[in-house]
Amino acid sequence: KPRVFSAMQPTSDSLQLGNYLGALVHWVKLQDTHDAIYGVVDLHALTVAPDPAVLRARTRRTAAQFLAGGVDPTRSIVFCQSHVPEHAELAWLLSTFTGFGEAGRMTQFKDKSAKVGESGTNVGLFTYPVLMAADILLYDTNVVPVGEDQRQHLELSRDLAQRLNARFGEGTVVVPEPHIVKETAKIYDLQEPTKKMSKSAVSPKGTIEVLDDPKKVAKNIRSAVTDTGDVIAFDREAKPGVSNLLTIYSAIDGRSVDQLVAEYEGKMYGHLKSDLADVVVEFLTPFHDAAMEWIESPDRLDSVLEDGAARATAIARPTLERLYDKVGLLAPM
Ligand code: ATP
Ligand code: MG
Repeated sequence: KPRVFSAMQPTSDSLQLGNYLGALVHWVKLQDTHDAIYGVVDLHALTVAPDPAVLRARTRRTAAQFLAGGVDPTRSIVFCQSHVPEHAELAWLLSTFTGFGEAGRMTQFKDKSAKVGESGTNVGLFTYPVLMAADILLYDTNVVPVGEDQRQHLELSRDLAQRLNARFGEGTVVVPEPHIVKETAKIYDLQEPTKKMSKSAVSPKGTIEVLDDPKKVAKNIRSAVTDTGDVIAFDREAKPGVSNLLTIYSAIDGRSVDQLVAEYEGKMYGHLKSDLADVVVEFLTPFHDAAMEWIESPDRLDSVLEDGAARATAIARPTLERLYDKVGLLAPM
């Protein structure tokens, strides 16, 4: 079976709807056809200087949400990045193959460091995409399901893989393919529908936190920014707010955007928002309950992560040793 790898950062208590629809839904589907590995990437989360106790709690909560969303730990590997030190080791090796200018072109670094200012940013945030490439290449990954925001980082992972193959021979590493599902690749903030929804830069009224109180989720949807005019139509340029709502509706309900547009012909924005609020709350309720069950049984959760780390290491260690050998590091006695 081809292999799929993907991951999320434990940077919040709850995933946001974009993580769920843009990534998690596809993770769950790919389990049927792929050998799947899904990580809670806690080393990545260190780049935003989290409180230690909060980071630990969020690491468990993030894993709990993978499981609640349908990731099956008996089939797929669910693990915590720092439990497999090969990630950090391969990241170092890859950093020596990454151009300084190349890393400097990453737009996520520019965006995230602009928010904290030059003195607040750190080298970890700069080398983040190199660690991400290590996460992927370590498992000879074929497919990486992510949102649109990760396209550039994936491209860097591919460039690094191709560089290693050019230098050390074809087949040294697998060149990964992005799996970005157009319809749900970018879910936008409800208040600023041209900006991606994101779990660390939470805008209290613009983000749908999937573990939030259903009343608040519904309220945020009902007060989502819509556009001038009163026709419900899909048009990203002219109607980013309504288009985002239609995207979310279609992803959850299964009807196509066109079908929804036909159904809401002649109706008002308020109708759409109020129906969507009901649909989202109904969708999230069982997820919420399942996640809470996992969160309230940390021992059970930890044993999933322990098992996952052992299975991940069994794949990661040989890959790292193979690459250490290729670059000329002396094997330990
Ligand atoms: P952070 O603000 O901490 O970066 P994030 O919401 O961007 O949080 P990540 O952990 O960085 O979440 O990404 C997890 C996955 O969710 C990635 O595959 C990413 O592409 C995807 N993703 C993040 N935001 C969205 C979004 N708005 N729409 C679709 N997919 C998204
Ligand atoms: Mg992100």
